[in-house]
Amino acid sequence: MRLHSLENRVIVLFIGLLLSVQLVAYFVIGNAIDINARTAIEEDLKINEKIFTRLIEQNAQKLIQGANLLAKDFGFRDAIGSHDTETIISSLQNHGQRIGADLSMLVGLDGKILAASSPDLAAGLQASVSQLMPSANATGSASRIEIVDGKPYQMVMVPIAAPVTISWVAMAIPIGKTIVDDMQQLSLMQISLLTSDSQGHWQANVSTLPASAAASLANLLPTSFTHAQLIADLQLDDNLYSARVLPLARNDTASTIAVLQLSVSQAVAPYKQLQRNLLLLSVIGSLLAIVVSVITARRITGPVRQLAETARRLGIGDYQVAIGVLQKDEIGDLARSFAKMRDAIALREQQISRLAYHDTLTDLPNRARFADMVGQAIEQAKASGGSCFVLMIDLDRFKHVNDVMGHRFGDLLLRQVALRLRTEIGLSGQAPARLGGDEFAILLSEATLADAVGLAERVLQALEQAISIEDQTVDIGAGLGIAGFPAHAGDTEMLLGHAEVAMYVAKQSKNGAVIYAPEIDKSSQQSLSLLTEMRIALEQNHFLLYLQPKLALDSGAVVAVEALVRWRHPQRGMIFPDQFIPFAEQTGFIRQLTHWVMQAAARTCHAWDAAGLQFKMSVNISTRDLLDQELPNKFAAILLEHQVAASAFCLEITESAIMDDPVRAHQTLDKLHAMGMQLSIDDFGTGYSSLAYLKSLPVDELKIDKSFVLKMEQDIDDSKIVKSTIDLGHNMGLRVVAEGIENLEVMQLLKNLGCDQGQGYYISRPMPAEDFPAWLQQWQARSI
Ligand code: C2E
Ligand code: CA
Ligand code: CA
Repeated sequence: MRLHSLENRVIVLFIGLLLSVQLVAYFVIGNAIDINARTAIEEDLKINEKIFTRLIEQNAQKLIQGANLLAKDFGFRDAIGSHDTETIISSLQNHGQRIGADLSMLVGLDGKILAASSPDLAAGLQASVSQLMPSANATGSASRIEIVDGKPYQMVMVPIAAPVTISWVAMAIPIGKTIVDDMQQLSLMQISLLTSDSQGHWQANVSTLPASAAASLANLLPTSFTHAQLIADLQLDDNLYSARVLPLARNDTASTIAVLQLSVSQAVAPYKQLQRNLLLLSVIGSLLAIVVSVITARRITGPVRQLAETARRLGIGDYQVAIGVLQKDEIGDLARSFAKMRDAIALREQQISRLAYHDTLTDLPNRARFADMVGQAIEQAKASGGSCFVLMIDLDRFKHVNDVMGHRFGDLLLRQVALRLRTEIGLSGQAPARLGGDEFAILLSEATLADAVGLAERVLQALEQAISIEDQTVDIGAGLGIAGFPAHAGDTEMLLGHAEVAMYVAKQSKNGAVIYAPEIDKSSQQSLSLLTEMRIALEQNHFLLYLQPKLALDSGAVVAVEALVRWRHPQRGMIFPDQFIPFAEQTGFIRQLTHWVMQAAARTCHAWDAAGLQFKMSVNISTRDLLDQELPNKFAAILLEHQVAASAFCLEITESAIMDDPVRAHQTLDKLHAMGMQLSIDDFGTGYSSLAYLKSLPVDELKIDKSFVLKMEQDIDDSKIVKSTIDLGHNMGLRVVAEGIENLEVMQLLKNLGCDQGQGYYISRPMPAEDFPAWLQQWQARSI
């Protein structure tokens, strides 16, 4: 259970509020009770003090009446007159006993004690006699409290008149248990009488308190009191009292006080009971409040918690979770909005994942989805101990079609291809996907290599059939690579990578389907080292310029040469261009190589100029060169460097090189032509370019591919093609050149067909450039 949860906070707040209100009430009430009780006690004490004072006064009056009775007694007065001491003393004793006095005495006018019922006590009160006498003389009686031997006495004095005062009667009665008992009967308070000794220590004379409480009272009191005083808190044993102290008498050595006490605890007791009831009520109320607030909090937080859980499940992509909040309040509204949001998110996620994992053009899974599928198939194969295969397909010439026919056409073509793949796969449950551009892939889960090869053949056959779109028919072949788990790769990435490698090999070798093998990768590693070797060859001047002459067929004069590159490898010996030009084209190294050939050719032309020789120099150019926007500038710089005219050069470009990116090729060719260079279409007859397009190029020469020329004297078809190509070239106003002339017959045939120039082993194999002048001399000598 979380401490900071909403539920707990609501509960804590509720109960906290309730408890604090009750606590404050409890203490305020408690305090009020206390204050009230104490005021009441104080009042009570004051009243009781008055009662007590009155009681003492009554006591004194009673004693005065008793003394007056004696003073008027005839027998007593007679005895005084006759100085009958015995009778006097017995009268004093009898009378004193009757009214409960401890002492009765006869005092002379001079204040001397003439006779006493108790001589010891009388001696202790001698001093008081002289103090009482003046007021007794004035008012007819006097009373006073005196302390003798640590005990308080009420003492009174009245005259004996006959009718003039002849002597005095004085009486004393102890103030003690009697008066205390009387007092207690009148009120419920505790009362104690205490007298202090000469050291100021209090001693209880009499007390309604238990002995131990009385003793601790004596210890707690201050040493002296001059007037009546309140002591609010007096803790005696287990009881708390409020007390009122009343000084009764004082002399030089001692003083007597009365202490009236009321028990605070007792006074407060009924209120305390009330307060306890209140506390009990509070506790019950709080418990009820806890229960109610827990229920309320649950009502609020239960649905909130459910929504939070739903949100968490949404977070991990679970949209099935139901929201069971049926409340009709704001929380119910929230829950319903939440459910709507969940549905909307689910729908949107579906759309997003469709976009993220789907190729919208072909309606096939895309690369990311395909990789997932392959991953699953690998897991499945791992579990079952089987295998799965990936077929990767790359269309031939798609870029070309896209450029020439437009993107809309390209899109339609891709759709057609997707359709064919689907048809070929059929309902076998295997999935085609479009990985991007013109690259497709098929996953065969739980399949054998034979299955994969079988499907690959069917797919290739299907793609070899021309596709027609909007009255246009397009031939579209493909390269296809096969790789499988666990035979060729251990994981998805490697499997896709190897299928791709196999596919590239298939495309290069124009070999239909290729199954991945580690050697393929090795060959690609070899390629890497080949690139390094080519760079080194360029630095160390291992490339050589070879030249092959071209004749004007009608005159037999050498009119031109074709520059052909050779590589003299320090270990491998002479390497022919077929072995490295395609690779140089793939890697882009061809640009550097073309630059080198052009330099060498220009240098040769310059040397010939000096020697008075003039032959057109044909140089071969590749696709990559044509795509280089800077090519015309680079050539211009070379021409300038070697001081040769652009018109000395003819650039041979294969049809397919032009068609890889016709727009850019067109631009570059225009610039080169504008510089004054001639242009020639090489290997004419092997490509697919439309005549209309070729016509739009600034071309000067057509070069019939040697494959038609080599066997033209045996093959009627070939010679027909050659004848029509020559006518076609001439119709377009172009010079026509035939390469691959290996014998005199072919040369004669071409001459008869009106072909302008010829080139071939019959005339000369390509030779090192420096050998050319010598060969030329020999040739000219022979033909003369
Ligand atoms: P290409 O431009 O068609 O060059 C003509 C090829 O035919 C040359 O092969 C040449 O030796 C060969 N040939 C000439 N007469 C005959 C003949 O009577 N019979 C036969 N069987 N062959 C003949 P090479 O020199 O091996 O060049 C092959 C290809 O390499 C060239 O074909 C060209 O496409 C490319 N190439 C050569 N040098 C360069 C270069 O400097 N730059 C570029 N980009 N490509 C080059
Ligand atoms: Ca050529
Ligand atoms: Ca050629």
